[in-house]
Amino acid sequence: MHSLTIAQVMTDTRHILESVDVRLLLQHVLNVEHAFLLTHSEYELTSAQKQSFLQLLERRIQGVPVAYLIGKRDFYDLTFKVNEAVLIPRSETELLVELALEKIPSDRLYRILDLGTGSGAIALTLAKHRPLAQMVAVDVSPAALAVCRENARILQVDNVCCVTGSWFDELSGERFDLIVSNPPYVAHGDPHLQRGDLRFEPQVALVAEGSGLACIQHIIAAAPQYLVKMGWLLLEHGHDQAEACRELLQQADFSNMCSHPDLAGIMRVSGGQMRS
Ligand code: GLN
Repeated sequence: MHSLTIAQVMTDTRHILESVDVRLLLQHVLNVEHAFLLTHSEYELTSAQKQSFLQLLERRIQGVPVAYLIGKRDFYDLTFKVNEAVLIPRSETELLVELALEKIPSDRLYRILDLGTGSGAIALTLAKHRPLAQMVAVDVSPAALAVCRENARILQVDNVCCVTGSWFDELSGERFDLIVSNPPYVAHGDPHLQRGDLRFEPQVALVAEGSGLACIQHIIAAAPQYLVKMGWLLLEHGHDQAEACRELLQQADFSNMCSHPDLAGIMRVSGGQMRS
């Protein structure tokens, strides 16, 4: 095989893939930080490195998400292990984390529930930042919860309890100060499901009945039974679902309804508070 340097890889792949993807694949294969690539552009890949890189490149060109190829994704200020059993954490979900952190006190116990936790991106980030909080992370998929547990171990988060179950099914009698969720909210047949990373992600984490609103509807209707007085519910939702969410919150007798825009200016998180 011909020799191949970092600089050559970056140039040769310029027209095929985004440079950030190539960079992440290279970092993974060479087991180095970004700074190494920048300062060692003449480094020659060994033949084993070259072979694994070309294999990953091929799968990336076929569409497999970079996060699945390298097995991880940065989210907020942490890095999460991911695999095909979980949705890849997205930057817009950091808004939900920020809004939740504003509500969670740092000086006392606070009970939080994350519904449909997946990799644990939301639950573990909140739990890590609020060590006195008690987090319950629920997911219907045992394979997803295994990823969440593994992340809790790696990130050394010990204030999270992982529960297998559908939404509130395993939580009878429990009450929380805050419930958060990034439930499936994409409608069946949405063309986005045929594009990019979404083609490879678990459909159970993405798609919901009722034009995408079924899970949100279920969560909002049931949440009052699991919240304390003055407790909060915060939900991520689709770009055109904010109004519907606020209406559902109102029907469930929440107060202080609000919706918040993500960095792209799209209303992405809505919530409400239980009355006193
Ligand atoms: N925000 C995701 C997307 O459309 C969907 C995540 C979800 O359904 N919870 O790519």
